[in-house]
Amino acid sequence: MKVLIFGSGGREHALAWAVKRSDRVTEVVCAPGNGGIAQIARCVPVDLKDLDAMVQLAQAEQPGLTIVGPELPLSLGIVDALKMRGLRVFGPTRAAAMLESSKGFAKRFMQRHNIPSASYAVCTTADELDKAVEIFRAPIVVKADGLAAGKGVIICPSRQTAIEAGHSLFSGKHLGEAADQVILEEFLEGDEISFLCLSDGKHVAPLVPAQDHKCIGEGDTGPNTGGMGVYSTDALLDAGMTEWILRHIAEPTVSGMAAEGTPFVGVLYIGLMMTARGPQVLEFNARFGDPETQAILLRLDSDLVTALEACIDGTLDKTELRWASGAAACVVASSAGYPGSYKTGFPISGLTSASQVPNVQVFHSGSARLGGQLVTAGGRVLVAAAAAPSLEEALTRAYQAMAEIHFDGIYFRHDIGHRALKKTK
Ligand code: AMP
Repeated sequence: MKVLIFGSGGREHALAWAVKRSDRVTEVVCAPGNGGIAQIARCVPVDLKDLDAMVQLAQAEQPGLTIVGPELPLSLGIVDALKMRGLRVFGPTRAAAMLESSKGFAKRFMQRHNIPSASYAVCTTADELDKAVEIFRAPIVVKADGLAAGKGVIICPSRQTAIEAGHSLFSGKHLGEAADQVILEEFLEGDEISFLCLSDGKHVAPLVPAQDHKCIGEGDTGPNTGGMGVYSTDALLDAGMTEWILRHIAEPTVSGMAAEGTPFVGVLYIGLMMTARGPQVLEFNARFGDPETQAILLRLDSDLVTALEACIDGTLDKTELRWASGAAACVVASSAGYPGSYKTGFPISGLTSASQVPNVQVFHSGSARLGGQLVTAGGRVLVAAAAAPSLEEALTRAYQAMAEIHFDGIYFRHDIGHRALKKTK
């Protein structure tokens, strides 16, 4: 079978790697892909903002399965468009992807279905926001409604700063584009966990849990990034808590979407805050997370393609996902300056020796091939991912691999996993 993957990051590199391990797959095409993905798949250029171009490409390639990585094509309706043309595609429809593409929709949906989440107000004008702020106690979380590539959440220490943040989202000053709706939220405290599951629209199958490090600086300090590292161990959630999250959050979300006529087929990524009053949903994503997917897929022992096809066919309840016990860890290397401005085009060396560290995979997030040489092409450049019987060992291997890799201005955090390691000591 030919598999087409839309996307260009570390997530898509990991998906291509996992898909290639399936006996049933003869060819992997990635659009547009990147320099690292090109080593294991045929990369074809496409603009992920251009729905027609993506549809034309899929029609020309006629894959047996299409997997959509990023949120933008989902929110443009790529799944609806490909299904209409008789193609098998893994991912939610545009309407179901609203769980991610509109935070206001997600909050109202959770309220309708009694899914635990922070109290909130959805505001459509600055005047409304000024009034709504009065019912919140500081700190107050202010969010833009739509997709904002991780930049749409502002934690405000006072009502006054929340008003200012809300106004800057409405005016377009903060994101460069004016928000239609701004959401105010109660500030939640606790540990964050990424709980991803597959859904076929009726049934839910959890993936192994993960915890990421969003901040650029050691000790989880400094500005937020797309993720500087992540790890997955069974110790993150015990069986009882996993069951609770499935029963009270994942299953009601999937049954609620089906009951509202927009069944959710794909990966439901639930961002959770583990608070004193129990797990609360921070956000939904309608796709695999990046870099969580790189760690999670390293622990998958069964066939990914079979599982994704079961989602399309509505037979997820008859499909078993098997996981390696132990741990997986990923360390992200970024360009100097990220998440602010940075330069690209620097040669990357040491990849061969890095990949010789046992049980390590190097996934590329932002690389390109320039005249036979791999060069940096993004803020997050690559991920050293390792699986091992323990988190300590997985981290040691990932850092061993990272020590082999070099490019001008390479930066990575040296403390990935510090929270989990502290708990086991
Ligand atoms: P979101 O895109 O909604 O997940 O928000 C991004 C990040 O902002 C989350 O991963 C949290 O670290 C933080 N955040 C979002 N909502 C809240 C909240 N209600 N309370 C505390 N932190 C939050």
